[in-house]
Formats: sequence, C-alpha cells, structure tokens
Amino acid sequence: MEVQTSSAVGVKTNQQVVGPIVLLGPPGAGKGTQAKLIAETYGIPQISTGDILRDNVARKTELGVKAKEIMARGDLVPDELVCGMVADRLMQADCVRGFILDGFPRTVRQAEWLDTQLEKMRAGKDGKGQQACAPPVVIRLVVEYNQLLQRLTGRRSCPTCGLIYNVYYQPPKIQGICDVDGTPLVTRRDDTEEVITERLKAYEQLTLPLVEYYGARGRLIEVNGDQPVEAVMAQTFKAIENVNRL
Ligand SMILES: [Zn+2]
Repeated sequence: MEVQTSSAVGVKTNQQVVGPIVLLGPPGAGKGTQAKLIAETYGIPQISTGDILRDNVARKTELGVKAKEIMARGDLVPDELVCGMVADRLMQADCVRGFILDGFPRTVRQAEWLDTQLEKMRAGKDGKGQQACAPPVVIRLVVEYNQLLQRLTGRRSCPTCGLIYNVYYQPPKIQGICDVDGTPLVTRRDDTEEVITERLKAYEQLTLPLVEYYGARGRLIEVNGDQPVEAVMAQTFKAIENVNRL
C-alpha cells in the first residue's frame, strides 16, 4: 500500500500548537504509520518509551544507569523510572508545540501520572505555551479482530534485508520472494496465528482500563483503522485539530 507522505498532504504551519497526543491501537492497526505521519506533518516529536530508555542507557544518565542494572537482572523497568525519563523528555525544547506519545501510557497509573505531569508543566508556564501541555488528545485506532488477525498473519519478512511484506496488503512482485534480493520470504515465529492471538488478547486486557479512563474524561476519539491509510490519516488529523483545546 502506498503511503502518502507529508509533502503530499502539505506540512502544517510550524507555529501551530498541537499539544500532547496519545495514540492507542492494537498491533497491526497501523499505529506506527499514523504516528510517523502525525509527527512529520505537524513537525512534533514522536516519543516512544523504548527510544527514551535506550537513549538514557546510552548517555548513562542517572535513570539510565539504574534502568540498565534492573534490565541486566532480567526485571522490568519500574514505572517511576520510565515516568522519570518521560518527564525529562517532555521538558526538551522540541516538545514546545506538542508531541506524540507512542507506547505510553500503558496503564491507568501511567495515564494519571501523565495528567499530573502535564498539569505541573502548565502551571510552570505562566500562560505561555500552556496549550502544548494541555490534557492529551487520545486517538484510538479501532480495527475489527478478524481483520487484525488477517493483517498480522499475512506478514512475511525477508531474512536477508529485513523488509516486511504482507500477502494481503503489500505482496512482493513474485509470490514468496523478496523484491530487493530474491531471498525466499519467511513467517516469523511472532507472526503465527497462535502467538498473535495471545498478543492481541494481552493487548486488549492491558488497554481496556486505559480506554475507559480516557473515555470517562471525554478525551477519547475513536478512528476506524479499517480503511485506507489516507482516510485514517484524514480522520486523525481532523480529530487533532478540532479537539485539542485547553
Ligand atoms: Zn530482501
């Protein structure tokens, strides 16, 4: 599927304040694609906890050193460390007009933390740039279960160059063969139906309380992810522009 880039849509003004955006959606809903399009179009950073974690570990920050020790023991990095790193990241200059959070918050506790943090940031701004730390607009990409299953089980990857194909949506020119280097494509273990079903179930369980949390606060906007990328994008942009007000 051809993805329209920001140049085709028209980059929005660089002065526009977008505010915080949280993107929710199960694996296979096209969250990564939409996050990238939003970030490019509005000129705001896409912030993922994985990237922040790696960055803190690489720069050997206080939080990064602690996180590394914990991960070395095989334990999960606790909330307060993750939140501390997110807080540092949100203070950076490129977040001044807004940012898009990808993979955070994952839990209601993190969502509550984020609300408090944004409130603190707003209070510290004395009216200037407050909109950039308004309560987040939460966009949930909704895709029907069987559709997700089909998307995810259709994934094939090239063991040589790492390119990902989808037998339904992005088939290679010759069936089962990588366009770039002619290597036979494989189904990764992660992409078998059994593993995917487990993953989707786990996601659903983890996310439902979050959906309820934001829904109860009137911040949740559901976008049908079961349409072409351009249509999803148009609805997502509309949601961001119409709802994000202090
Ligand atoms: Zn290849």
